[in-house]
Amino acid sequence: MILANYINGVLQPPVAKVYLDNFCPATGEVYGKIPASTAADIDLAVAAAKEAFPKWSTMPAAKRSAILMKISEGINAQRDVLAEAESKDNGKPLWLAQKVDIPRARDNFAFYATAILHDTSETHDMGSAGFNYTLRKPIGVAACISPWNLPLYLFTWKIAPALASGNTVVAKPSEVTPATAYLLSQICIDAGLPPGVLNIVHGTGPDTGAALIGHPDVPVISFTGGTATGAAIAREAAPMFKKLSLELGGKNPNIIFADCDFDDMLQTTVQSSFANQGQICLCGSRIFVERPIYEKFKTAFVERVKQLKVGHPTAPDTKVGALVSQPHMEKVLSYVALAKAEGGTVLCGGEQIYPEGFENGYYVSPAVIEGLSFDCRTNQEEIFGPVVTITPFDTEEEVLAMANSTKYGLAATIWTENLKKAHRVAAAIDSGIIWINCWLVRDLRTPFGGMKQSGVGREGGFEALHFFTEAKNICVKL
Ligand code: NDP
Repeated sequence: MILANYINGVLQPPVAKVYLDNFCPATGEVYGKIPASTAADIDLAVAAAKEAFPKWSTMPAAKRSAILMKISEGINAQRDVLAEAESKDNGKPLWLAQKVDIPRARDNFAFYATAILHDTSETHDMGSAGFNYTLRKPIGVAACISPWNLPLYLFTWKIAPALASGNTVVAKPSEVTPATAYLLSQICIDAGLPPGVLNIVHGTGPDTGAALIGHPDVPVISFTGGTATGAAIAREAAPMFKKLSLELGGKNPNIIFADCDFDDMLQTTVQSSFANQGQICLCGSRIFVERPIYEKFKTAFVERVKQLKVGHPTAPDTKVGALVSQPHMEKVLSYVALAKAEGGTVLCGGEQIYPEGFENGYYVSPAVIEGLSFDCRTNQEEIFGPVVTITPFDTEEEVLAMANSTKYGLAATIWTENLKKAHRVAAAIDSGIIWINCWLVRDLRTPFGGMKQSGVGREGGFEALHFFTEAKNICVKL
């Protein structure tokens, strides 16, 4: 499959006619070509978005909403094709793409298509002196840049609120997983999205992404990816005073108290550790277990993890598919080696494996490691793969200090049946998102994002809609 850019309503090749290889992680084979777009393509896309902005931004909300709902319906109609493309491009189990990624992409558009029908703005009454009201105006051409782990899910999580609030968009998916973004282009054409309102440009971060970030006609940027990339984007954008939303990395604690519902905790902790091969920014990679149940947990957890079937993404019994790329697999394996060098004991997994018939794919068995100090590199740096550490603790103060010891603050999970303790610990953890006795239970209305170096700003609900607007106060004297 040779992918094309979607610019000004038309699928077109990159200006320079240069392409990159697209790899299938399950087999290691090249199966497609991706435009290696340059600043010339970004210039075309931004010009198209700029031209489309006046009409789109002043279109009645109900009309914009109807077009966005058609895109949602288009995603739903194409859900099987999209799920297969996502699984092939990313290496994730097909059932996961069918159950989570594609339904969520559909829901992102439906959620923001309807949210704009219910949004309101504030008035501030000053009594006899007068009053203020707030107008929220779309900003202009928004840049949306997303990573490879949940490709269409995260791509649409940005594009939908940006478009719904009246901006036009130039979006760049990760070059590692471009397939579903490409398929979305045709869905948008079929839904009647006016030309230029959404433009999807493929290519690498340092070339295509950087050209988009630096473009003078792009005043607002929504980025999800690694913390180092976020820092580079912030450096570039700051002198141009661009508005930024950054959703970055995590090193999330999963805190298990002895009084938890053990079976429920165990089942969910297997998922929160290894879902999507551990490549979810919300996965709990540092598991802290209260000492009285540490040995019981360790035995039961390792036994369950060993049972997880690692294999080809389309096999229905596969629980852990392929990692997204060879370089990423090498990075994950290097962290397992680092953990050993730091004195850790690998209780299971952490090895490259070679399923029969797919020996060149990027498969790593899920790893559980113990015996590491909370402040070693393995416990401080984001691995973003199927690797977790387990660490015992004795007191609430101790576990809070360990949980809060990293530079990240994205998500945390707490397991306890003690209500007071749950709320006390939740309030004390430096994370933007806390789950108590559950994990990855999502309500799209809630604020989503991280503290510290996990990000700047919040997505979700009206937070995202408002991010893509400028608030303007109008003061009226009576
Ligand atoms: P990267 O930061 O490498 O890339 C993210 C996106 O940015 C990709 O589209 C990439 O393009 C692009 N990019 C890279 N360099 C630049 C640049 N200089 N200018 C503009 N764009 C650039 O992250 P990964 O794709 O490796 O994703 C994994 C990371 O994402 C993890 O750290 C994870 O925690 C984080 N993440 C955070 C989430 C959150 O909500 N907080 C959710 C999901 C993931 P390309 O890939 O084509 O090079």
